[in-house]
Amino acid sequence: MNKQQTTDVVIIGAGAAGLMCAIAAAEEGKQVHLLDHANKAGKKILISGGGRCNFTNMYTEPSNYLGHNPHFCKSALNRYTPWDFIAQVDKAGLPWHEKKLGQLFSDNKSQAILTMLLERCDQLGVTIVLDFSISSVTKTGETFSISNANAVYQSPSLVIATGAMSFPTMGATDFGHRLAKQFGLAVTPTYPGLVPFTFDAKEKAQFDGLSGTSVDVLIEVNNTSFRENILFTHKGLSGPAVLQISSYWTPGDTVTVRCLPDTDIAAELKDKQQSQPKKHLHKLLQSYLPLSVIQCFCEGIDLQKPLHNYKHTELQAIADLIQHWQFIPSGTEGYKKAEVTCGGVNTDEISSKTFEAKKVKGLYFIGEVLDVTGQLGGFNFQWAWASGFCCGKAL
Ligand SMILES: Cc1cc2nc3c(=O)[nH]c(=O)nc-3n(C[C@H](O)[C@H](O)[C@H](O)COP(=O)(O)OP(=O)(O)OC[C@H]3O[C@@H](n4cnc5c(N)ncnc54)[C@H](O)[C@@H]3O)c2cc1C
Repeated sequence: MNKQQTTDVVIIGAGAAGLMCAIAAAEEGKQVHLLDHANKAGKKILISGGGRCNFTNMYTEPSNYLGHNPHFCKSALNRYTPWDFIAQVDKAGLPWHEKKLGQLFSDNKSQAILTMLLERCDQLGVTIVLDFSISSVTKTGETFSISNANAVYQSPSLVIATGAMSFPTMGATDFGHRLAKQFGLAVTPTYPGLVPFTFDAKEKAQFDGLSGTSVDVLIEVNNTSFRENILFTHKGLSGPAVLQISSYWTPGDTVTVRCLPDTDIAAELKDKQQSQPKKHLHKLLQSYLPLSVIQCFCEGIDLQKPLHNYKHTELQAIADLIQHWQFIPSGTEGYKKAEVTCGGVNTDEISSKTFEAKKVKGLYFIGEVLDVTGQLGGFNFQWAWASGFCCGKAL
């Protein structure tokens, strides 16, 4: 016979949002069962931030998030700020540092952040059940039943914190979206975010030699831009600038890349043509960017001549190739390599105060499963902490 357990709260998904929600609810005296199909809690925390968990961003604002309703995230972000999480990290005695742009990283491995959360769950008596593969979720009257082959958990409150499809090797699934649909809730279309672009055959051939090279650029798509590095890969483009802009890109959109965004290269080349006419163009260009980069951007153009041998229009064309490179990515590397999933459970269906579904009493959604996606730089964990905390307190 199946084991039956009745509890105050069942949370499905022991990732960042689920752990935080469990802590917040248990602090209010709730009996919490946290179920996960993985063999370990918080796997994405462990691999995050290159192993050092970029756990928040000091400058978190609602404008750092995408979603069809840009106002939805405001309430939770106001009620649980980066400084609330920093206070927890400080209380646990964990050292941290700002890398750049307000991005806070653990000085130690990401495991330190996960251990802090797991120890707090333990102190508060949260029961974490791993390797729990859910076969069904039903609601009868006011009670949810969450079953696998051997056990049934029953509870008046069910929190879905199962994230979304990015990085399936870490246990990511579309479970939360399917469950939302099962209960009649809308899900906005999903696509991979914070993900590298792939090149078509033409760009692949042109930039083949640059694999591993990083360049500071301004990158733009659909009136959104980021100033960061791009990284050429053997498949296309990655690096922080590309990951950022990928969340704003839809297939077929043109991407514009401007190298040396603070310099007017055309004006400088024309200037130098006057002051140093005998200087060879390739020598001059090398003072701005590595020759390998210049050669790829200016493929097929003779850069070996002295400056006085070029017309102004030719110098302008060369500057444009470097400062106004436009291409259409053939695609992205997909959910396999995406740090996040854009889109998700439609936030019109959810209370921004409690995270309860407006149509289904007792059913809550938090974290990445929702149509709220942060930019790169600690914003996604801050959303997981904030939504998890506010939901946990409301249970
Ligand atoms: C490589 C990588 C690096 C990242 N680095 C950062 C970073 O440094 N800073 C940052 O802010 N964000 C980072 N992110 C994004 C961040 O990890 C996520 O936004 C965040 O983990 C989302 O939290 P969540 O709790 O909603 O979902 P998750 O952390 O994905 O947790 C979901 C949990 O649900 C479980 N689950 C899924 N399906 C089922 C099911 N069917 N049954 C039971 N359990 C299930 C999973 O096993 C998992 O434990 C990174 C992501 C990746 C992939």
